[in-house]
Amino acid sequence: MRKRKVLILGGGFAGIKAAQDLSTDRRFDITLVSEEDHFRFYPALYHTATGGARKLSQISLSELFSKTSVRVLRARAETVHRTTKTVHTKGAGTISYDTLLIALGMTTNYFGIPGLEQYSYGIKSVDEAERFKKHLHDQILRDKKPDLHYVIVGGGPTGVELAGMLPSYLSQIMKHHGIKHKRAHVELIEAAPRILPRLPKDVSKATARQLRKLGVAVRTNQKVEAETADALMINGKPLKSHTVVWTAGVACNSFFLQNNFTMSEHHKVVVNNYLQVEGNIYVMGDNADTPYSGVAQTALYDARFVARNLKLIASGRPPKQYKPKLPLYVTPTGPGWATLVWGKLHLHGWLAGAVRKLADLIAYHDYQPWWSASKRWLAEEAHEEPCFMCND
Ligand SMILES: Cc1cc2nc3c(=O)[nH]c(=O)nc-3n(C[C@H](O)[C@H](O)[C@H](O)COP(=O)(O)OP(=O)(O)OC[C@H]3O[C@@H](n4cnc5c(N)ncnc54)[C@H](O)[C@@H]3O)c2cc1C
Repeated sequence: MRKRKVLILGGGFAGIKAAQDLSTDRRFDITLVSEEDHFRFYPALYHTATGGARKLSQISLSELFSKTSVRVLRARAETVHRTTKTVHTKGAGTISYDTLLIALGMTTNYFGIPGLEQYSYGIKSVDEAERFKKHLHDQILRDKKPDLHYVIVGGGPTGVELAGMLPSYLSQIMKHHGIKHKRAHVELIEAAPRILPRLPKDVSKATARQLRKLGVAVRTNQKVEAETADALMINGKPLKSHTVVWTAGVACNSFFLQNNFTMSEHHKVVVNNYLQVEGNIYVMGDNADTPYSGVAQTALYDARFVARNLKLIASGRPPKQYKPKLPLYVTPTGPGWATLVWGKLHLHGWLAGAVRKLADLIAYHDYQPWWSASKRWLAEEAHEEPCFMCND
């Protein structure tokens, strides 16, 4: 019997899980196209950007797929040709499919704000996190004092996670180099009236309180207008800084608009109750307009759902309908502390911090055997190197 060719675009949370789940079924011939040679484990990037090990945030695809029959191609997917059922890629030519699964994630959006793309830092990849980390060390070693302001723009989970860890990391850098310890001014800037605007109000409040305790100035209702080499313009006033991190904007991968997918009012891809956009094309994870898209747990859930349905269809049985699953939102805010939201349950403090640590272990294990997942997870406690610049 001819195997069914499944082509998966995107080697992230959804794409990898779908490939892993389908790879145990011999009826499928699976190709995974990824523009990276590794899996970006986004939830740990804030940690890597503040002294944590690189391996917390990136897992090589060859490690994940070495014992499977999945063909992993490093290439950039460009055009879908629906009539010939092929995808043209940059790097691996044209690939044919019977079923196409797409999960290409989000890209950074600067909303056209002048200077941001040129001068700000990001933490959306390990390379970006390390560029940021290098800048922190460079600047402190050069000036023998901290920058005037460390500005994190975006009071969503990524901005909060980074802001929570930054004061202690800056102290650590100064202490390590014998620089007389000065308080670093870390500012978290949010355009909405409160941080974590998608979570309940009491959670925003508790998080803002915790950030202030850690020495972070939380400024809401602040609109960023431009950035120059040494200042950020906010509400018409300059804030002096050489260290601005932009975490405030994401946009759906441009692949979908370029390939005539129907976009929803949320600027995500319209999918039906089976996560299909057309008979043999499925969209999963951040790109699909589902109630809880935008978090890793949903991407993982989508991938498992689609893989299960493809197996049912291959067995001649009807596919199941998609039932959105409420995710657990846990936002770490400084060492050991977090907020947790699961429906009506709201928790904050050290217990939520412990839940987050456990959730990280489970998330690694969703992709790797317990032994490898535990080794990676334990690296959370170890720092990559004492100094990024001088290695001492
Ligand atoms: C900094 C940060 C921190 C986060 N923290 C958390 C958290 O703590 N908890 C949580 O639940 N969620 C978190 N998220 C969200 C979570 O990471 C996403 O919801 C999840 O990654 C979505 O999975 P996905 O498979 O849809 O996309 P992704 O995981 O983004 O995967 C998409 C993949 O497609 C690749 N790709 C893109 N374009 C192409 C192309 N044209 N051709 C080939 N490959 C391509 C990308 O390189 C990427 O590897 C965080 C996100 C960020 C950015």
